[in-house]
Amino acid sequence: MDCLFCKIVAGEIPNKTVYEDDQVLAFYDIAPKAPVHVLVIPKCHLSGVRDITPDTATVVGHIFEVIPQITEKLGLTDYRVVSNNGVEAGQTVGHLHFHILGGRILGEMG
Ligand code: AMP
Ligand code: ZN
Repeated sequence: MDCLFCKIVAGEIPNKTVYEDDQVLAFYDIAPKAPVHVLVIPKCHLSGVRDITPDTATVVGHIFEVIPQITEKLGLTDYRVVSNNGVEAGQTVGHLHFHILGGRILGEMG
């Protein structure tokens, strides 16, 4: 499958890893929208939130279990977690990912 983030998981495209375990990879966004901008992805391919089912929810639960560890490592106390789903919502990579944004006052959602 021609998926950018699957290629990152496979090590075919380099990344700046922040956290990794058997199910999850977190790495710095290549075009940061905030002083700290990290992406957290499942290692298995899910196209987005729409692919979350009772079977795949386990890895999503695990992602939210490790996000506090990642933000602590990044020194963030306040941060935003967001997932764009669909082109009209700004999704540019069709592999489920959660943005962690922080390091500045984020204000209200636009
Ligand atoms: P979205 O636009 O919500 O689908 O998020 C995709 C994110 O992936 C964007 O913020 C991009 O800057 C980021 N991105 C694209 N290519 C790479 C890459 N090779 N390494 C790290 N982040 C990337
Ligand atoms: Zn993928």
